[in-house]
Amino acid sequence: MTSGIIYDPSYLMHEQSPTHPERRERLSYTLDQLEEEGIFDIPEIKLIRPKPARRDDVLLVHSLEYLKFLEESSINGGIIDADTYVPKNLIHDALLAAGGAICAADAVVNQQVKNAFVLSRPPGHHAGRSNGAGFCYLNNIAIMTRYLQRRGLRRIMIVDWDAHHGNGTEEIFYDDPTVLFCSVHQYPFYPGSGRIEDIGIREGKGYNINLPIPAGSSDKVYRYLLEELIIPLAEEYMPDLIAISAGQDNHFSDPLTGLALTAQGYARLMQEICIIADSICYGRIIAVLEGGYSVEGGLPYTNLGLIAAMAGMDISNIREPEGYQKLLLQSVSEDAFPKVVKMVADLKEKLTSHWYFLNRSY
Ligand SMILES: [Zn+2]
Repeated sequence: MTSGIIYDPSYLMHEQSPTHPERRERLSYTLDQLEEEGIFDIPEIKLIRPKPARRDDVLLVHSLEYLKFLEESSINGGIIDADTYVPKNLIHDALLAAGGAICAADAVVNQQVKNAFVLSRPPGHHAGRSNGAGFCYLNNIAIMTRYLQRRGLRRIMIVDWDAHHGNGTEEIFYDDPTVLFCSVHQYPFYPGSGRIEDIGIREGKGYNINLPIPAGSSDKVYRYLLEELIIPLAEEYMPDLIAISAGQDNHFSDPLTGLALTAQGYARLMQEICIIADSICYGRIIAVLEGGYSVEGGLPYTNLGLIAAMAGMDISNIREPEGYQKLLLQSVSEDAFPKVVKMVADLKEKLTSHWYFLNRSY
């Protein structure tokens, strides 16, 4: 079965300003790299054009008041916060990004493709029910999750590996046991949330998992988190689909963050998630692009690695150009791993009454 890439040249239209980190080159450089590698000529890859999300789909997540604010601000422009302006016509670009995630949902549920990667802009995971923030306007992955549930899928696991905490997605599903939200993020860092103590409320208690990690965390840290928590959580939760808030700002060359994941590390993460998805949910994975601001050194190679892993291709040659190795050595912190081991032990204690695998004595 094939992998879908959801992309449209209109995803290059959105722009707050030419110098803003969330700019169109984030995707255009990736597209150049994918074309250079011949990705779109591979029979296992299917390019899918998105359609805009409908207002009804958006209202499954966002308040009518907030949607109207975005629509009205899009006429003459507006502002949400210091990092997040509303350019003219924003609503069209935001609806097309959310619509890309919905098209991916349809393609996977209809079995046109086994998994899909939504290469969209603007990103979404900081957008809450009634507010935008941090370059985000509509929460694309949350809208897709509710849409998938309307199409009959019951439980969705969202793995948010963007370097920033997915505070908008957390807020939307905080009391909901039908969505297991698991965020790995640099901490302390923007937006300031994402503590291990925040495990959900009411029926959703135990279904919100925060994995805050220090600057300098490398491939080894991510692999540890996958093996210690993310995979066992997936095996016990048995989701019908794994959604990934795929922020590539953990890359060691990212100018906004301090993490130290490599392109090879990203590809291996995705490969492991594909293996677990094959065993529990027919391989259904949808990755939705979030952040990632290393336009030349990071995004083209991390995105290529993720796509190659999803398509079951050989990922052993996925790496950044040689010149970046020195930067990697400067980014990795040896102190990070023991801190993460301690964090995981503390978090497991908070989750023992919610997850059976944490109570096994063997
Ligand atoms: Zn981010």
